[in-house]
Amino acid sequence: MADCLFCKIVKGEIPAKKIHEDDDTVAFLDINPQAPTHLLVVPRRHIPTLNDLGPDDDALAGKLLRVAAALAKERGLAGRGWRAVLNTNADAGQTVFHIHAHVLGGRRMTWPPG
Ligand code: AMP
Ligand code: ZN
Repeated sequence: MADCLFCKIVKGEIPAKKIHEDDDTVAFLDINPQAPTHLLVVPRRHIPTLNDLGPDDDALAGKLLRVAAALAKERGLAGRGWRAVLNTNADAGQTVFHIHAHVLGGRRMTWPPG
């Protein structure tokens, strides 16, 4: 999608510290980290929110989570713990309308989230 920040990062039109790329997903460092590790995993394809997933997207949604877990594990977070966050629309604070899984770790998380 032409005006989408994360589509531009996926295509390399805007710089980002990419840490993973495969046929379906791209991961990069969050520009405003909220934890010692803060990564974003996005599908290459533009899908605005989790609300827009259809039955044909089951494999892609699963892959997004598997890549998130693999990257967390790669960074030594699997044992001590980490958090995946997918904000959806205004009440959750979504600001970029291209699905992204936040991978947060390296510090103790609180619950309930703010
Ligand atoms: P959300 O609020 O869930 O939509 O998350 C959007 C995230 O994108 C925030 O954590 C931002 O810090 C992050 N972000 C915004 N612009 C960029 C960028 N150019 N490169 C990397 N991360 C970004
Ligand atoms: Zn997009």
